Amino acid sequence: FSRLKNGLKKTKDGLVGRIDALVLGKKEIDADTLEELEEILITSDIGVKTTVELIRSLEQRLGRNELKDGEALRAALKADILARLNAHHSVLDTDARHPFVLLVIGVNGVGKTTTIGKLASRFTGKGKRVLLAAADTFRAAAAEQLEAWGERSGVDVVRHKEGADPSAVVFDACKAAVARQVDILIVDTAGRLHTKVNLMEEMKKIHRVIGREIPGAPHETLLVLDAATGQNAVSQARLFKEAAGVTGIALTKLDGTAKGGIVVAVSHEFGLPVRYIGVGEAIDDLRDFNPQEFTDALFQ
Ligand code: GDP
Repeated sequence: FSRLKNGLKKTKDGLVGRIDALVLGKKEIDADTLEELEEILITSDIGVKTTVELIRSLEQRLGRNELKDGEALRAALKADILARLNAHHSVLDTDARHPFVLLVIGVNGVGKTTTIGKLASRFTGKGKRVLLAAADTFRAAAAEQLEAWGERSGVDVVRHKEGADPSAVVFDACKAAVARQVDILIVDTAGRLHTKVNLMEEMKKIHRVIGREIPGAPHETLLVLDAATGQNAVSQARLFKEAAGVTGIALTKLDGTAKGGIVVAVSHEFGLPVRYIGVGEAIDDLRDFNPQEFTDALFQ
């Protein structure tokens, strides 16, 4: 928990620090206070839609005389944020299918390969047999980077030559996953942010190939987003959700940013579960997202 707290320190200082400066010690809450709070939430990447909802809920509490002072306001805000995170929360159950196919998507630089490496390490650490597929055939370094991560956890990588058809890699990887009876196949895809139509076509093709080889797969389409990019991450979530059938989110680089409010925005605005959060570059710096822990780390 203290690692998580450290990782979220910038967001805690930026978001909760400003809230505390506004509310703590206040003996009475009025409309002006809520207006100032609204300003803080919006500038902390919590998102306009979610902020408006949170403020409305606080106004109702104020009307019911529930917000006697700054402490009560702070506690109510924390509870309201937690309720929204809980509403969309679910843990990824990779034991539900065999092999479990995890398709990982997202634009270049967000931390996709690192996240896959961290996941491979975590799954092998739990005794799972893992296989990686290097379906990002557009970047020369992508497959090598994936292999380097694979080596760290003793995990094989299925790869083709640079420029090969990603679907062909996926096809081979699915065959290998079944033949070798692996527990989890993690597929890395190209992070080119091209037009929505191209993205859709490419994703459809990959989905089709995977589904043909392993019925019902992919079981999770995990979108990786860089928390530090703030509202850009929100736009990416919108595009990929429409084009690629995202079923879960991994938010990386929360340790380097004060924009941690983005966790609330992407989850609540798109109704998607945040599965993992990245709070550092090390192999064990990927954590299961837990709404209670997350809000505790910010507000405690
Ligand atoms: P990709 O292009 O999406 O595959 O991105 P990479 O996995 O290569 O990561 C890009 C950079 O982000 C690398 O320097 C990673 O070490 C760094 N990175 C990834 N996740 C995190 C994180 O949670 N925290 C921090 N501080 N850095 C991260």
